Amino acid sequence: MTLDGLVESALPRALEELGRLVAVPSVAAKGEDMEPCAGLVADLLRAHGLEAHLAATDGGPPVVFAEDRSAGPDAPTVLFYNHYDVQPAEPYHLWDSPPFTLDIRDNIAYGRGTSDDKGHIVCRLMALDALRAANGGRLPVNVKFLIEGEEEISSVHLPAWMEANANILNADVCVWEFGGVDDQGHPQIICGLRGIAYFELHARTIAYDAHSGVGGSLFPNAAWRLVWALATLKDENERILLPGHYDTVKPATDDDMALLAALPSEEEWLKREFGIGQFLGGATGVEYQRRAVFEPTCTICGLDSGWQGEGAKTVLPARASAKLDFRLVPDQDPETVRQSLRAHLDAHGFTDIEVRYLGGQRPGRVDPHHPMVSLCAETAREVYGKEPALIPLVGGSGPIHPFVAGLRQPVVTCGVGYPGSRAHAPNENLRLSDLLLGAKHTARFLGALSEGPPAPSQATFAQ
Ligand SMILES: [Zn+2]
Repeated sequence: MTLDGLVESALPRALEELGRLVAVPSVAAKGEDMEPCAGLVADLLRAHGLEAHLAATDGGPPVVFAEDRSAGPDAPTVLFYNHYDVQPAEPYHLWDSPPFTLDIRDNIAYGRGTSDDKGHIVCRLMALDALRAANGGRLPVNVKFLIEGEEEISSVHLPAWMEANANILNADVCVWEFGGVDDQGHPQIICGLRGIAYFELHARTIAYDAHSGVGGSLFPNAAWRLVWALATLKDENERILLPGHYDTVKPATDDDMALLAALPSEEEWLKREFGIGQFLGGATGVEYQRRAVFEPTCTICGLDSGWQGEGAKTVLPARASAKLDFRLVPDQDPETVRQSLRAHLDAHGFTDIEVRYLGGQRPGRVDPHHPMVSLCAETAREVYGKEPALIPLVGGSGPIHPFVAGLRQPVVTCGVGYPGSRAHAPNENLRLSDLLLGAKHTARFLGALSEGPPAPSQATFAQ
């Protein structure tokens, strides 16, 4: 049987295993069912011929580490990075089927984690089974899995665990937890992720909420304090005003701009979908593509204070809070943002505003011309029959920095996502056709890698 045929024959088992994974509600934000899910993942990896164990992290749920090194010391090694945690499924009433029960309708598998990221775990196991069967029962490359349980809450404990265990993580290439196709079916090869720094700001002014007629002229209002503090963070041209915030920003290169210009534009679709006339700064064409990912952001994600119920309530709030995220571009560092946010608020007279740091991640990039990226793109072209989209940087974040900067591994993407996956949302789903394509691509990439590492180039790592 061909490699593709072998992947296809692995589908029934993959769906049965995906069903078992989806049935464990491993919601990192609630910290429930993390150990049972890690245990199930390890069991599945063992059932597919890998040696697997749970490894404790310093304060978080365990990571699952697994490997099969039977290809021998001369064969290349691939490290798969995945996560077994999922986002909360709420609001439940917006799901058409129960979120933690795999439901397959019209060749689409529905359930929390089907795409992000449990579907990617089974996709990889399908690829490995097919490769083994095509290769006389043995994998042609060495394989490792690092599957964490905190990706959806900023991978809080992963970087420290990776640093302490770098000796077991060495590999020639890391296959990232996500990937997939755009709305035209072109496979996306993603070469970088932005970083993030997430904060809560709290204002407290008086002991408890007051009558606005009594306190309005005399008492400091927590909502106003917070709004004034927030207003100092960014100007009306979207420029972030923290001291030194742009000092380490690496602008997009000519090569980045050429890659962005070659990407299909979602400009008109985004405007229609979100009902906006124009993007910030009037960005359009390749400048919209650049601005979308190469500019740092400061986003108020939520604001809370006083009375928000129906009708009027003349109250003067004692407390106010905001959630705030900063998306970071190479080479910004969340730790620097944490310090400069505090210093900035103090310098503007807001020493009373409490800042809570909820976590952060550093940005990371791989050279889009790295030979591993080229090999990933070539094999994608064969499987998908369409030109891959080489994306220099995406707007979202993930723990890429410890892989590219710590382990110094190139990162590539072979995945099962598509724009309608509804990751993080109700009715999260995985098209079975994408599962098969993703597994075929993964198998093809590993197979090509086993035929000899791609020719070295002048590729470098950018952070
Ligand atoms: Zn996610």
